[in-house]
Amino acid sequence: MEKVNYKITYNRPYVTGDEASYMIKAVASGKLSGNGIFTQRCQDFFINKYGFKASLLTNSCTAALEMSAILCNIQSGDEVIMPSFTFVSMANAFVLRGAKIVFADSSEFSPNIDVKKIESLITKKTKAIVVVHYAGISCDIIEIAKLAKAYNLFLIEDVAHSIDSYYHGDEKIPLGKFGDFATFSFHETKNVTCGEGGLLAINNENYIERAEIIWEKGTNRADFNRKKVKKYEWVDIGSSFLPSELTAAFLLAQLDNLENIQKQRVGVFYKYFEELKKLSSIEKIQLPYIPEYASSNGHLFYLVLPTKEHRNKLINYLKDREIQVVFHYQSLHKSPFYKNKFKGQKLLNSEKYSDCLVRLPIYYSLNFNDIIIIVSEIEKFSKKYL
Ligand SMILES: *Cc1c(COP(=O)(O)O)cnc(C)c1O
Repeated sequence: MEKVNYKITYNRPYVTGDEASYMIKAVASGKLSGNGIFTQRCQDFFINKYGFKASLLTNSCTAALEMSAILCNIQSGDEVIMPSFTFVSMANAFVLRGAKIVFADSSEFSPNIDVKKIESLITKKTKAIVVVHYAGISCDIIEIAKLAKAYNLFLIEDVAHSIDSYYHGDEKIPLGKFGDFATFSFHETKNVTCGEGGLLAINNENYIERAEIIWEKGTNRADFNRKKVKKYEWVDIGSSFLPSELTAAFLLAQLDNLENIQKQRVGVFYKYFEELKKLSSIEKIQLPYIPEYASSNGHLFYLVLPTKEHRNKLINYLKDREIQVVFHYQSLHKSPFYKNKFKGQKLLNSEKYSDCLVRLPIYYSLNFNDIIIIVSEIEKFSKKYL
């Protein structure tokens, strides 16, 4: 990668300061492999705070997605509907099991899947709908859950962006509570991190037992640990999906600071919003769309420029001023791997977000002065070029 000394980088992982002491405790315990006390405490955190029926710590969100695909019992030729504007692991996890991916377009207003486009894509072969709450802002998950129920499909929420984000209806429901399964990421770029890590949250009780088996390399080791069976045996397919206790210890230190992390990041998000809305030139730039049922968890702040040329020009303009901003997903239906397999219609909104969206720096230690600097540079750019 090109080396630029940015004054303001796109991301800076936050460490709370408690990580090392938690990891030392894990080392001292003598239990280093997975599914020890720290793993349990991370998993319990999610169950207690968000009300999931079960949760399993994984090596990544990718791993949690792969587990979901196995749990859906995807067979060769089954169809899975998902947005094209998303992270590649969402598609790969199902392709690995032989699925055909049916990509849906994003909404005109936001990169989230357009719920109106889903129903016409459902066929007899459809097994699951997988959605992402882009930027941690809820997609129209109530309507999607209704569709999944009506057609008896699995629903999986990729909540890699959306820890501690909510759907605000009659009551406030955490994202990840709507699907049969939800997959979290603790990659360095996410709100809460342990370097690499993830979690599978399970809302559909019928799948808890099998999930534990898949997680433990296809064995009934979890039951063995509970002394429910005398020896553990190979009972199903599975893989090595669980991280070590060192990873879990690092993660727990972050989870114990979640409220503080969220407060800080959400503050950054809304400061951007407030400052950008004041700009006279702002009507040419699309700001994050937050429907009345959603809110931001401070994961990501994006702008949508009128054209790809404007977007790329803005990236370079800010780079010259040592501010790092970055584009995001390249539409999967046009990817080198899938473009010849994709037989659907053009997905113009998805392509628009691939071409025209840019993400602004957002992290715990980004201070309001930096935000003012970034916004004033965007203003200068837009006065000159938009
Ligand atoms: C980061 C991300 C992933 C992958 O997470 P890993 O933990 O790196 O596997 C998957 N989906 C989305 C939407 C992401 O943003």
